[in-house]
Amino acid sequence: MSGAVFDVAVIGGGLHGLSAALHLGRAGKRVIVLERAWVGRHASGASAAGVRTLNRDLGELDLALESMEMWHNIASLVDDECGFHAHGQICVAEHPGSLSELEERVARLKGLGYTHEAIIDVRELRRRVPAISAHCIGASIAPRDGAADPHRTLAAFRRSAQAAGVVIREGCGVRGIARHGQDWSIEMESSAVADGERGSAQAHGQTSTLVVPFVVNAAGAWSGRIAAMVGDDIPLDTKASMMIVSERLAPMIEPVVGIMGRSLSFKQSDQGTLVIGGGLQGIPDLNAESSAVRMGVLSKGARAATDLFPCVRDIRIVRVWSGLEAKTRDMLPVVGPAVNAPGVFHAFGYSGHGFQLVPVVGAALTDLIVSGSTRRAIGALNAQRLMASPPAEVAA
Ligand SMILES: Cc1cc2nc3c(=O)[nH]c(=O)nc-3n(C[C@H](O)[C@H](O)[C@H](O)COP(=O)(O)OP(=O)(O)OC[C@H]3O[C@@H](n4cnc5c(N)ncnc54)[C@H](O)[C@@H]3O)c2cc1C
Repeated sequence: MSGAVFDVAVIGGGLHGLSAALHLGRAGKRVIVLERAWVGRHASGASAAGVRTLNRDLGELDLALESMEMWHNIASLVDDECGFHAHGQICVAEHPGSLSELEERVARLKGLGYTHEAIIDVRELRRRVPAISAHCIGASIAPRDGAADPHRTLAAFRRSAQAAGVVIREGCGVRGIARHGQDWSIEMESSAVADGERGSAQAHGQTSTLVVPFVVNAAGAWSGRIAAMVGDDIPLDTKASMMIVSERLAPMIEPVVGIMGRSLSFKQSDQGTLVIGGGLQGIPDLNAESSAVRMGVLSKGARAATDLFPCVRDIRIVRVWSGLEAKTRDMLPVVGPAVNAPGVFHAFGYSGHGFQLVPVVGAALTDLIVSGSTRRAIGALNAQRLMASPPAEVAA
């Protein structure tokens, strides 16, 4: 690439790539985002956009709580509300055993000094969610949680990153990365997607190189391949989470609702559609850069939804889809420096819950690149933990 000098190449134009680029651009770095397809093509454009601290693993809880504060002020970061509403997230208990588990978790959190989760009794549950089935007996709640609009969020982060001077190159896939003195040389191949930054169309299959001191690996489901290019062999699995969207209905629910012990996330969008997910898995195909929906599995999600909300039994489903994302063996992301590649930073493996972490992870990566350290709580998210051999019982 001639005539352009960048400090940082961000690989991946999903929300995490855009967030890193935005924070880095605001910190004065010259940043280019290299996106093989188009911004939001994969997990970020397929997301249910739940903004959840409820039931978070302790390994990422402090980071998620900082991110939640950022969500409550999201317009100060990206000059748009991103469709974010904080109506709470609720995890419903159908049986006494489930309620005990929720109570134990909330008590454990309290013992550690966390107050963001609480237990609500059946009366309060019905007050907050009048349509809930009569068999539900209580719930845990994180009242400051909520949900956003993924496409509005993508547009806002993109706009803000560009306003901060970030160059976004779509249709530009990274094929190789090699050490180049103290820097990194990135080999790229362009596809037929128009290069919106320069107003020109690149020829399909054209290759070029770019030399930069810093690289951010935010390549989503393909991040393991990027990591391997710089010598970090990080075992990753792939998720193909599926979603169901209904026809538009009159307003019926404000919080996002899940069920203890079953795969369900149930909410209503601003447009009135019900958005139903919760981690049910389709069929991933990384080489084809796509995934397929499994209708039989999706029907389990629909069953869970109608068990919880009998009043939606006869509504029409208008759309289903699935999206690709990397999954780690402990379901925690990798955020931080590469192990074997100075100047390279990883941000991937969100395992189905990375939307909530978008504002804060870009800030943490910027700390690392600009000042060499961060006070943000990424200690449990290092790459080494996954590169070490798994415990014998897991490996067996
Ligand atoms: C159906 C579904 C529902 C979800 N619901 C929620 C939710 O409710 N709450 C929540 O917190 N999270 C949720 N998630 C997870 C969340 O959406 C993701 O964690 C987040 O969007 C990941 O963003 P990303 O930028 O890391 O990845 P992506 O958005 O996948 O971006 C990675 C990008 O890298 C690009 N790329 C890959 N390889 C290369 C290469 N070699 N060169 C250049 N570019 C490359 C890809 O084209 C892609 O655009 C959901 C995910 C899915 C799929």
